Amino acid sequence: MVNRYNGPDPEPSGHERQRLLAEVCPPGSRCHLCGELIENGLRRWHPRGPSMDHLLPRSKGGTWDRHNLAPAHYGCNSTRGNTDLLVKRTRRSRDW
Ligand SMILES: [Zn+2]
Repeated sequence: MVNRYNGPDPEPSGHERQRLLAEVCPPGSRCHLCGELIENGLRRWHPRGPSMDHLLPRSKGGTWDRHNLAPAHYGCNSTRGNTDLLVKRTRRSRDW
């Protein structure tokens, strides 16, 4: 098995993150939060673009293990409040 994710939940760096993202969100994936199709090929961090949501939030001990990740829109993921990913404050949301 992969031992890479043992230990204190190391966050995957850029390349590894991209690989994981491609695995979690292959073309045609549906957001597990809203059920809509995720659109690939959008600019990075687009609200309709792909992101990985932690089924068990990292704050509760969730890891970057593939089995703890589900495809979600970046926007849905952010709205949910699980903003572990790099959230740039390009949008002003009052939903928080
Ligand atoms: Zn969604």
